[in-house]
Amino acid sequence: MKRTYRPATTLVHAGQVRSNFAENAEALFLTSGFVYDDAEQAAATFRGEVAHYQYSRFGNPTVSMLEARLAAIEGAEACRATATGMAAVHAAILCHVKAGDRVVASRALFGSCHWIVTTLLPRYGIETVLVDGADIAAWGEALAVPTALVLLETPSNPMLDIIDLRAVSDLAHRAGAIVVVDNVFATPLLQRPLEFGADVVVYSATKHMDGQGRVLGGAVLGRKEWIETTLQPFTRNTGPALSPFNAWVILKGLETMALRVAQSCRSAATIADHLAGQAQVARVLYPFRADHPQSALARAQMSDGGTLVTFEMKGGQDAAFRLMNALDLIVISNNLGDSKSMMTHPATTTHSKVPPADRALLGISEGTIRFSVGLEDVADLIDDLDGALAALAQPRSVASARR
Ligand SMILES: *Cc1c(COP(=O)(O)O)cnc(C)c1O
Repeated sequence: MKRTYRPATTLVHAGQVRSNFAENAEALFLTSGFVYDDAEQAAATFRGEVAHYQYSRFGNPTVSMLEARLAAIEGAEACRATATGMAAVHAAILCHVKAGDRVVASRALFGSCHWIVTTLLPRYGIETVLVDGADIAAWGEALAVPTALVLLETPSNPMLDIIDLRAVSDLAHRAGAIVVVDNVFATPLLQRPLEFGADVVVYSATKHMDGQGRVLGGAVLGRKEWIETTLQPFTRNTGPALSPFNAWVILKGLETMALRVAQSCRSAATIADHLAGQAQVARVLYPFRADHPQSALARAQMSDGGTLVTFEMKGGQDAAFRLMNALDLIVISNNLGDSKSMMTHPATTTHSKVPPADRALLGISEGTIRFSVGLEDVADLIDDLDGALAALAQPRSVASARR
């Protein structure tokens, strides 16, 4: 591919390197090692004078194709794929910081990211500060002293808070920090953090990139120099390498990602509006709805509202559980970004280990449900929701007798 193409085209073709068999589909190089023509070539490879694959912990042709495709869709100079999204987040942080450094992060983080920042980093003598992501004054205060790294997630899990990427990047750079953005909820199709000043973007490829619930994967994207001299020594020697098989599955997932994300966004917007009209629903959060507290910011830095809708049931956990248990089509699962629609109750699942006071600070109530909208016909999804809401409206004895 010589020219630069639009995103949907890039996702189908970018990064493909054909072997001398001229295969059409991306080849799966399921091999741990590589062989050399002679001992001299091996020696020259290890001296860095010859470009030759050495070992799949360092690099693999199928994984390289995925990395090239992801770099192309992100508009990043370089990419390294990892075994999971958490391996990507962990590597992106740990490769860059050392004892005595300071890390500032948004409070609304994916559970394991929160654990890394608040539990793991302090063990290594790294000071960590959490701020309310929407509060620019709080970012300014936290970044008034020299800082090594900023980690943030926008839209956030599960309340879909939006963080001003440009404003936080400017503050972070003045403090000497690099900005790492967990862009899982937006995908590279809806939001390109590098264009707003971020330095590094991390993904769980497990979500929309595979998008069909099959494999785990992750990626770190950024400038070539940082990837090669800061990240790469860390990943080569600590080993969060992505399996070539999983890389191949994700490569094929990317080919349909533009279609899938567009459809899920359309359905999510329709469902958000539908839920907002229901008497049993206290509140709906969807970034592109006018009643989202940061809808203007969301529209300024995202091209669509995303595939997730978060809503709050009147009647707390009891109502939330009864609604989820009354669904026929939408499954109960804590994954997201999948072709199958799924709901989770954050207070008792993804955020059950967050102390109640901190959960309240994040805005997660007992009635909060996170809905990852999939690829089913949106009319079927709405019928399923309506059926469950109707069951909820009946006296409990009648509702449970019908199940
Ligand atoms: C899923 C997820 C991760 C972690 O990715 P894994 O592939 O599960 O390791 C990190 N951040 C966000 C926002 C996620 O949704």
